[in-house]
Amino acid sequence: MTSYTELGLVNTREMFRKAMEGGYAIPAYNFNNMEQMQAIVQACVETGSPVILQVSSGARKYANQNILRNMARGAVEYARELGREIPIALHLDHGSSFELCKDCIESGFSSVMIDGSHLPYDENVALTKKVCEFAHSQKDYVTVEGELGVLAGVEDDVSAEHSQYTQPEEVEDFVKKTGADSLAISIGTSHGRTKFKPEQCTKDANGVLIPPPLRFDILEEIERKIPGFPIVLHGASSVAAEYVRIIEKHGGHLKDSVGIPEDQLRRAAKSAVCKINIDSDGRLAMTAYIRKTLAEKPEEFDPRNILGPAREALKELYAHKCRNVLGSAGGA
Ligand SMILES: [Zn+2]
Repeated sequence: MTSYTELGLVNTREMFRKAMEGGYAIPAYNFNNMEQMQAIVQACVETGSPVILQVSSGARKYANQNILRNMARGAVEYARELGREIPIALHLDHGSSFELCKDCIESGFSSVMIDGSHLPYDENVALTKKVCEFAHSQKDYVTVEGELGVLAGVEDDVSAEHSQYTQPEEVEDFVKKTGADSLAISIGTSHGRTKFKPEQCTKDANGVLIPPPLRFDILEEIERKIPGFPIVLHGASSVAAEYVRIIEKHGGHLKDSVGIPEDQLRRAAKSAVCKINIDSDGRLAMTAYIRKTLAEKPEEFDPRNILGPAREALKELYAHKCRNVLGSAGGA
């Protein structure tokens, strides 16, 4: 049994309190390997941003949970070495059961999500409450994210055909009954790189597909029901046309990629939205620069020279998000 404080990590409580006050959102970047972790730490140290290192169940399968939590410890020490201590949380993304959450909490995660959003309301409440009771009774308080409403799209082991907006009438009761520390909601974001079908979108002057706007009216109603309570947005990648172009130019096929425009995320970050999850954008940046390097340097076979430029592109992407989209730069 390891407590997250032994790893130098923090839970999300203080981060969210400051984010709420400062009108910004904490980035939750998913990671599965060393290059992603390095890029996240470099970007967040450079911009002075707190960060949530996020692990999905797919990442646990791919990289092993023990390795990932020791990488999180490494991230804390790496940040220090780079010259700046920043708050770092290790968070389980889309925990599917009490047992999984318990396992992560006991192995050093400082925060977990229990995703009961696919269950009937009362079962979601009961499951989330059970995880909260366990997480909050630890020697070091572990924070818990619950979810109401369903996001469309596919991400690792989570998938749904249709979205279902969060019902504002439910949030107050849910938060009160479960004791959750934050709440993921569905207001029009979506998992994966194809967030909308082309027929749901309009086109701008450059032919880029523009999705329907987020439902800020629902967000505002939720804020009125639970003022000051930290809200989380999943599926909030912007799927930059620049990366898609590089990928397609070098042999990739990513038909109908559509993301959430960054100005909408900036607006959300200024509200009660305290955590914004970004995974697909990192995948795209990495794939774009791996493809580019391989195409431009066919003689290259040193993985460091292939993954190095991808890591640099990732770092730039993350720093841009902290500075210009989430507004978390300087929040550490
Ligand atoms: Zn998600």
